[in-house]
Amino acid sequence: MLEIANVEVVYNEVILVLRGLSIEVPDGQIVALLGSNGAGKTTTARAVTGLLDVHEGKITKGSITWNGEDIAGSNPSAIVRGGISQVMEGRRIFAELTVDENLGTGAFTNRSKESENYTRVMDLFPRLQERRNQTAGLLSGGEQQMLAIARALMAEPELLILDEPSLGLAPKLVEQVRDTIVGINEQGTSVLLIEQNAVMALSIANYGYIMETGKVVMDGDGQKLLADDDVKEFYLGLHSDGGEKKSFKEVKHYKRRKRWAS
Ligand code: ATP
Repeated sequence: MLEIANVEVVYNEVILVLRGLSIEVPDGQIVALLGSNGAGKTTTARAVTGLLDVHEGKITKGSITWNGEDIAGSNPSAIVRGGISQVMEGRRIFAELTVDENLGTGAFTNRSKESENYTRVMDLFPRLQERRNQTAGLLSGGEQQMLAIARALMAEPELLILDEPSLGLAPKLVEQVRDTIVGINEQGTSVLLIEQNAVMALSIANYGYIMETGKVVMDGDGQKLLADDDVKEFYLGLHSDGGEKKSFKEVKHYKRRKRWAS
């Protein structure tokens, strides 16, 4: 189980981005982390996977524990070895390498089980199997996203963190990505699903958190959040007054004011 408790993250020693964030990912579950641009979702992923350093970021408060062990500030490969893999935003594959070679790079922490994991991963992604010798840069956007996920699975993670896997994909491919995540979870891997596509994420999540300016503003069961009027209004753009709301908090505040006025 992953537990993030009251975490603060500061970039360049001055920019406070996470402001007391607390979320949990229990074993075997899919947990959605939602929020608009700049809410701090990617920063949360970096804090867990040890990638803050590269971005001049630091955890200045709080704790991150994985199966009871403090992992805040551990180095990225130790975290992968410990069972957490991440697919970064923007399908970071090696464009000039083949599909197989890309998968090989994902196995660096687990060479002894490379061929076993390769077979398992290819079963999940038959399309990649067909293209195993193709240069990855020539794959379609959807296939590249699948490859990025497949590569992370080569480390046989207990927890997979996906940062906006549906970004820029056509609706049909978003469905494929969603089904893939469900399949991965059914095989026993927990998933922290970072998304702006709230409907997709909540449709498969056991639990969801909505974050804004570095902290959680609402959380609950996936299905409950999906049915919540405020969530629908903000994330599906169904504003009752037809106007744009800048933040989720503002939607809630506006509705409260409306109730007072009537
Ligand atoms: P997006 O969906 O746009 O990626 P996000 O919710 O993932 O948004 P983050 O990428 O975590 O948000 O960014 C949160 C805030 O931190 C933003 O205001 C961003 O400008 C700032 N930020 C991110 N990386 C750095 C950095 N290396 N140095 C300074 N500020 C940063």
